[in-house]
Parts: sequence; structure tokens; C-alpha cells
Amino acid sequence: LEQQVSRSHKLATLSKVAAGVAHEIRNPLTTLKGFLQILAQRLTDARMAAEIEYVRMMLNEIGRVEDMVSELLLLAKPHPVRRVPCALPQLVAELGPAIAELAAEHGVTYSFACDDVPELPLDPALIKHMVMNLVKNAVEAMEHGGELRIHVRNEGAWVVMDVSDTGPGIPFYQMDRIFDAFFTTKEKGTGLGLPVCQRIAGDHGGEVRVSSKGFGTTVSVWLPVQAPAEV
Ligand code: ADP
Ligand code: MG
Repeated sequence: LEQQVSRSHKLATLSKVAAGVAHEIRNPLTTLKGFLQILAQRLTDARMAAEIEYVRMMLNEIGRVEDMVSELLLLAKPHPVRRVPCALPQLVAELGPAIAELAAEHGVTYSFACDDVPELPLDPALIKHMVMNLVKNAVEAMEHGGELRIHVRNEGAWVVMDVSDTGPGIPFYQMDRIFDAFFTTKEKGTGLGLPVCQRIAGDHGGEVRVSSKGFGTTVSVWLPVQAPAEV
């Protein structure tokens, strides 16, 4: 028991440190971004094309670090979950333009189907964040185009959202690692997308399941129709 207590104490300390560091990184980033934006406005001379491109690239990279810090904060810190009755298909529909844009950039076709599902107690911002993470993974997996499909359906006391792609799938020997923080097979990956999705589903009393059998991947988010008492 003593060992368990000290281990959970260590984990708590670790997540406090991670949350603190992530938070401290945000402020200087905001300053950097602000000055770079000013620079971008002043670089209007046509002979400055290369410099304009450098500034654009710097802003881009800062955006990536900002995203990473937000994901780290989501994982490391207990965060407020504001659940209100929501229609999941409606939330997915609101993301339609953003999803369609990502899909088009990757030469992927997107389709969305939904059954008649009951409203669920959801935190709309967190759920949308989760959907976008899953969509990103799907389109990133389809290097040579393909089909992205989202299907919302009933499964007993659960509403299930399947995000399917026609990418290469996930090798079985990697299956038990994809939810580990920082596990990535991508050059520019963070390995935080799936752990964050698992965390968000967990915040709603649900879970994320992945199935991939050689060709294509389906990531299913299971959400309970009944609000969990306290998660
Ligand atoms: P990242 O996208 O930054 O790599 P994630 O946690 O989102 O981190 O995903 C972890 C890994 O799981 C990915 O690097 C990839 O190997 C695998 N993965 C996730 N989704 C898919 C998918 N739809 N198809 C194939 N592999 C996937
Ligand atoms: Mg990802």
C-alpha cells in the first residue's frame, strides 16, 4: 500500500509539473506570436518574399506548439467538463465544413450518416475537439486519398460514433501502444491525439475502441445515454 501511495503521489506531482510547464510555455508563445504578426504586417515589400515566408513558417510552428501544449494540459490537468443535453449528430454536422476542408486537402471523400439517436449529456467543445482529432488521424492515414466515413448509431444503452477510413490500417503489434501518450509513427506527430480522445470519452463515462484488420481503420467512440454520476 505504501508503494501505491507514493506512486500515486509521484504521478500527481508529475501531472502538476507538466501542467505548470505547459502553462508557462503559453505566455512566451503569445508574445512571440504577437511580434511575428506585427513583422508580417510590415513585410510588404515584394523583395521580402523569402522573409515573409519565414515568418509564415514560424507562425505555423508556433501554432503547432500551442496545439501540443493544449493537448498536454488536457491530459495532465483535471479540467472542467460542462455536460449539457446535446444531439451528437448535430455537433458532427456543425463540424461539416471543417471536416470537408481537411478531407479535400488530402484528396479524401467524406460522408456522414446518422441514425435516430437520443440526446446525450455532452461537453460540446470537448466532443468537437475529439471528433477533429479522429478525423485528422483518418485523413493523415490516407496518403493517397480514400474515404472518410462517420456514422452515429444506437447500441443498446450507448450511442456509438464510428470514424472509418480506407487507409492502410494499424499493424496488430502497434495496437496496444496507440493510446500511450507520445506514441506516434508520424514524422510530425505528437502522439497525444488518441490519449486525449480516450480522456475526453472517459470524461463522459464512455470509451474509445479501435478496430483495424489489415485494411482501413474504424475508431468507435462509445457514449452512455445515461449521464454517469460523477466522472
Ligand atoms: P499522432 O496522430 O500525433 O501520431 P495519435 O495519438 O493521434 O498521435 O495517434 C497515434 C498513432 O496511432 C499514430 O501515429 C498512428 O500510427 C496510429 N493511428 C491513429 N489513427 C490511425 C488511423 N486512422 N489509421 C492508421 N493509424 C492510425
Ligand atoms: Mg493524431
